[in-house]
Amino acid sequence: MMGDHRSVMEAYLSATYTSNLTMRNNAMGDADRLIAAGLSCIDRDLDPHERVRRSLAMQAFRLQGSGGMTGARGLAERLGGLLVRRSMRGRTRMVSPSVRLIEARDIALLVLRWRQHNTCPACLGRGHPTIGEGREVIDDTRVCGECHGTGRIPLERLVRREHADLALWLASEIDSMVGFAEVKARSLLSQAV
Ligand SMILES: [Zn+2]
Repeated sequence: MMGDHRSVMEAYLSATYTSNLTMRNNAMGDADRLIAAGLSCIDRDLDPHERVRRSLAMQAFRLQGSGGMTGARGLAERLGGLLVRRSMRGRTRMVSPSVRLIEARDIALLVLRWRQHNTCPACLGRGHPTIGEGREVIDDTRVCGECHGTGRIPLERLVRREHADLALWLASEIDSMVGFAEVKARSLLSQAV
């Protein structure tokens, strides 16, 4: 699964990066166009909500592939809108007060940054502490006390307590969007080869 993931991302990146490894921000690359077209045209009867979601999926997938934060601000603006709507209804209502758009954008940007760089500094992503002075031996009988074995900085620790549920919700939404875009990208890229 991990290998699949990597190869799709590599194919995508090789098609969208220029030779000096800077992202083409102004002109969409061929693969971008292909995937964007594929994502939006698979079902002609898509409702507007789903079209927005697919275009967000495309942007999130592209950002993840870049490994950096180029384009994150624009994406955070759009995701902020989702967060505001979410905060005004549904299950998080009791714990998350409705957020203002400006706050929501900040939360979205933080979630995007966390998705790009979230390796636990205490265990370096291994999920276990190390033993001894040299710190080379991993103690897999214990989990890391900082990340509780996940290997990632807990997202909820980075936001204000009342925004934790919203941030976690957004992170899981983005995961599902990127997962969706990956599946589509895989099939579209394999058709194009
Ligand atoms: Zn850790």
